[in-house]
Amino acid sequence: MSKQNKGKVWLVGAGPSDAGLFTLKGKAVLEKADVVVYDKLVGQGVMAMIPGHVRKISVGKTAGHHPIPQHEINRILLEEALAGNRVVRLKGGDPFVFGRGGEELELLCEHQIPFEIVPGITSAVSVPAYNGIPVTHRDCCSSLHIITGHTKKSEEAEVDYEALVKVGGTMVFLMGVTAMPKICKGLLDAGMRADMPAALLERGTTAHQRRVVSTLASLPEDAKAAGLKPPAIIVVGEVCALSEEFHWAEDRPLGTMKIAVTRPKDRSSALAEKLAELGAEVALMPAIETAPIEENTRLEEALDRIGEYSWIVFTSVAGVQTFYSAMKARRMDVRSLAGIRFAVIGTGTAKAVEKQGIFVDLMPEVYSGKALGELLARTVKRQERILIPRAKIGTEDVIRPLKEAGLSFVDIAVYDTREIKQTGIYDDSVDLVAFTSASTVRGFVKQNPDADFSGVKAICIGEQTAAAAKEWGMQVAVSEKATIDSMVEKIQELAR
Ligand code: SAH
Repeated sequence: MSKQNKGKVWLVGAGPSDAGLFTLKGKAVLEKADVVVYDKLVGQGVMAMIPGHVRKISVGKTAGHHPIPQHEINRILLEEALAGNRVVRLKGGDPFVFGRGGEELELLCEHQIPFEIVPGITSAVSVPAYNGIPVTHRDCCSSLHIITGHTKKSEEAEVDYEALVKVGGTMVFLMGVTAMPKICKGLLDAGMRADMPAALLERGTTAHQRRVVSTLASLPEDAKAAGLKPPAIIVVGEVCALSEEFHWAEDRPLGTMKIAVTRPKDRSSALAEKLAELGAEVALMPAIETAPIEENTRLEEALDRIGEYSWIVFTSVAGVQTFYSAMKARRMDVRSLAGIRFAVIGTGTAKAVEKQGIFVDLMPEVYSGKALGELLARTVKRQERILIPRAKIGTEDVIRPLKEAGLSFVDIAVYDTREIKQTGIYDDSVDLVAFTSASTVRGFVKQNPDADFSGVKAICIGEQTAAAAKEWGMQVAVSEKATIDSMVEKIQELAR
């Protein structure tokens, strides 16, 4: 096989977990991958960036278990590359910091497979940072040592403690939870002060990160009492004491919350960004997707005679987008809408209409279909025709008041909502699930058939969404208004 037909391997560091700490280059490479071979330590947020069509191969290791031996991983990378694929080998932290990145390259080199390395942010530095521990500080240390608590040949670390104690500086031990008593004893025996500050930092950069800050002599006992488990790093050095003053991650308004967002992927960003800004760990779990209705003759007919309408009513951003795409496809622009007035359900939809160059004329104070229908019934004159391009599964709420008022309207389904088939993505590490429509609730339930829904804390927009969540026994809170801002406010209230 000639070299051109071979694929290529990118060895990519995923960072410590927080998706915001993944590099721009790593993300760009992921988006063009054919196959991703990933570890257990790769954060969920980074995993969510893998496009849906990309093949995923898990080679995850948990402490003490090696479900897939290293030579097997090497072989998978080689075979996928030989098959002509763009292979991303995604690893926690940095691929070359105790990540066996070097070993994985050896076989590729032997077979002349082209590769690139995309470094990642290592947990050795970032996990202390998220716990308010600067790994170096001018006042107290002049070196930083990153040490494995676990070596290839035996369970015990072969560490020269005497040398370490002599050099001094901050010491960071990875993979050291099991060996912690031995590590601490090794340092004590080599002459380190018993009251040297030391810390164990668990699941750093996630919403559920925990730390125990103690002394070298007491850390094993204190960490055991607190029940800390891997993945965790041990930090030994004066800098550990600084976390008392410098801690910050968990102090952010949503710093201890992992929140699942179930909106369609193309509409999740505003909510996800706001939550992340407030410190939340956001897990994207899109439960539905929207798709325009193909060959929509009713919509085409309405567009043919658009001049006959006095009002266009939008109840969702998807409705606005689909309507304008249909216009664009026939090379119609806003001039053909001259004189038509626009009514929308709420501010999100209003913004979408504004993007098309039109300010809306009517919006209810209460953001609901019923309120919009009633407002229209009061405002629209008998001889005026109304066009409502909206979801196929739209409720009666908007149109009931119009019917009662004897108004003439045309209700056209322009897009449909589909549930996304993907199972088992929710687990009880999620503190809160955000639902923005009843269809997201239904999609979520179908995706996670085995979940205990009575344990799900749901934050819902609107009473209909809340009713759907209650049907499944979820613990439900409802935002005051049907806006993303109001939902975010309610979430902050719950967090307090
Ligand atoms: N290449 C990785 C390290 C791989 S070794 C890096 O650069 O970070 C695996 C060890 O990394 C774990 O046993 C644990 O000690 C540490 N680790 C990785 N992610 C961590 C996290 N989010 N919180 C705490 N420790 C972590």
